[in-house]
Amino acid sequence: MGLLYLGTPLAWDEAKKHADHVRDHGITQFLHIWDRLKDRQGDELLWGDEVEYMVISFDDDEKNAKLSLRQTEILAKLSTIVDDISAETPDDISVPNFHPEYGRYMLESTPGAPYTGSITDLLSVESNMRYRRNLARKHLKSNEVPLTFTSFPRLGVPGQFTEPYYNPNDAISSHSLFLPEEITNPHARFPTLTANIRRRRGSKVAINLPIFVDENTPQPFIDPTISWDRSIYPEDVEAKLGAALPDHIYLDAMGFGMGCCCLQLTFQACNVSDARRLYDGLIPIGPILLALTAASPVWRGYLADVDSRWNVIAGSVDDRTKEERGVVPLKENKFIIPKSRYDSVDLYISNDWINRPEYNDNPLPYDQKLYDRMRDHGLDDLLSKHISHLFIRDPLVVFSETIDQDDASSSDHFENIQSTNWQTLRFKPPPPNSPIGWRVEFRSMEVQMTDFENAAFAVFVVLLSRAILSFHLNLYVPISKVDENMARAQKRDASASGKFYFRKDVYATRSSASSAASSSGASTPSDGSPRKKDRKMRNCFPPLPLPDRDFVVPKVEDEYEEMTMNEIINGKGADFSGLLPLVNAYLATLEIEPEHRRKIEQYLDLIKRRSDGTLLTPATWIRKFVTSHSEYKKDSIVSQGINYDLLKAVDEIERGVRQAPDLLPVDFTGGSKDPGSIGFS
Ligand code: ADP
Ligand code: MG
Ligand code: MG
Ligand code: MG
Ligand code: MG
Ligand code: MG
Repeated sequence: MGLLYLGTPLAWDEAKKHADHVRDHGITQFLHIWDRLKDRQGDELLWGDEVEYMVISFDDDEKNAKLSLRQTEILAKLSTIVDDISAETPDDISVPNFHPEYGRYMLESTPGAPYTGSITDLLSVESNMRYRRNLARKHLKSNEVPLTFTSFPRLGVPGQFTEPYYNPNDAISSHSLFLPEEITNPHARFPTLTANIRRRRGSKVAINLPIFVDENTPQPFIDPTISWDRSIYPEDVEAKLGAALPDHIYLDAMGFGMGCCCLQLTFQACNVSDARRLYDGLIPIGPILLALTAASPVWRGYLADVDSRWNVIAGSVDDRTKEERGVVPLKENKFIIPKSRYDSVDLYISNDWINRPEYNDNPLPYDQKLYDRMRDHGLDDLLSKHISHLFIRDPLVVFSETIDQDDASSSDHFENIQSTNWQTLRFKPPPPNSPIGWRVEFRSMEVQMTDFENAAFAVFVVLLSRAILSFHLNLYVPISKVDENMARAQKRDASASGKFYFRKDVYATRSSASSAASSSGASTPSDGSPRKKDRKMRNCFPPLPLPDRDFVVPKVEDEYEEMTMNEIINGKGADFSGLLPLVNAYLATLEIEPEHRRKIEQYLDLIKRRSDGTLLTPATWIRKFVTSHSEYKKDSIVSQGINYDLLKAVDEIERGVRQAPDLLPVDFTGGSKDPGSIGFS
């Protein structure tokens, strides 16, 4: 969640006076970075994952699974043992990092050092994730477990869902009807962020998820668990005045979204233009992998008609005023802003010729003054637009101690805005005074319940990123279609029954098609010599070739069509090769030990089976668990007992104590019981 300063955060009325200052200096800071590093070349593939956990506290007597609010203590313990850890940690694993997250029940872990492009590193991801989980597990109480679970099913229900209990009436930052103040990380940044979003917006955030209507769900559904008549905070009337919709699950606080767990991946690129190409290449992949990893069908104790978290988080930090949302005419504010600051990206940014202007068909409000400054400084149109679009947002948390900064050596003001634009992809410039290069972060995936699955998705995306770069793949579809896919990706059962817009011919040129083809078939290049295979995943590739001479620019509408998940991942006959075959073609360019190859196959097989429907998404599996539970009354309600059994089952699956053959391959043997093991018999 960005850097945590010790300092005094300003309330919104004060913070907003510094908004232009933060933006102006943020751009100055970015321009310093640009001047120093725009020509930087040759950075190797370094990459890393971020895995988020919720710490569950089981009460076996009451049969309740609660959120343990001991984040501060747990992190303190994990950091004091960090010195000892060096001794405990196997030589081949660097000491992992644990970070706080928004929820006071959450942890984030990252590998101690980024992985490189070596195949051994690629295959160490799962054991690295396991090691991190076990380390956390080892330092929890005996009734606590760190679950990689996207949304806590009973967050915000009446009664006790945290350990210890707190009354939501004390929610002085969010003014929520459902979540107590203590749900939030106590570091000043988080309550301030929460309160300033509410203050800037002029009301509480309001999210309405359609409820899953079952046989006995009352129609219309008017939620009896909402304190419709509470009058503690001025916003308490909002629910009654229309913020809470009938037939929906109403959520009114940042914690419902930022309290979700996800799986993120960051890749360093060879240079800035490759970072831009990779960023663009992964944009259409965002919604596809959101649908394929969908893992969050239960909200505030009810089954929802959606399978994933995205719109909840987007709504949970939506600080736009009524004017910006287009509800009332613009008066005080500068822009009508179509999306929350947490949402899908709006602009492809590569300067390659395959990025045709027609693809950037989303409305794009941007700060003209900042745009002009960047253009005058020599930046190109697309990157200037990208940044000045992010910079239409106000800084939400300003610390009085750090308002004046040395713009040549700090990037704090830049990061203040950049890191509170939470989008599907993040283009990460190098921090000042560090050896780190230009990076791209892939942010749409939901976290999976086991490290085997999380590793599988990490491995798949890394290999896909290599295929994109080395085969010069062209995955562009109009960005408005990517947004349509984001909406479709969240629907119930989207992966198995939905369709998504996807590009048919993914080769930028015929030469890129033939290089992909030659690497999958008999690998003899045109000169007849045997092809030399790479020993590790490369990061730097020749620039995109110019179009073939007889290249005819097709109509944009003819370039894509609606495809099923199975077709996108596994291909569609001669029309479209499919992402997995492209990944396999890339693998064929590498020299890989047979046993490493087999391990990679296990990961790719999970992706294949999830996408062809022979294995369920976590969301579908969870939904099935709930609806087939003996306590379930076909009324959409996920009771305390169902939740307890569900989370127990998830923990048992992860440890390999319980089988879930419709979710995981039958030979999956689980993780945590044996930290060193690879997880397969
Ligand atoms: P944030 O929360 O800002 O997204 P984190 O620091 O939590 O970022 O995680 C970033 C990920 O990037 C980690 O997995 C880390 O290992 C990885 N990483 C670190 N250095 C590099 C690098 N130079 N290139 C790519 N990834 C890196
Ligand atoms: Mg995180
Ligand atoms: Mg992080
Ligand atoms: Mg983060
Ligand atoms: Mg961070
Ligand atoms: Mg991140």
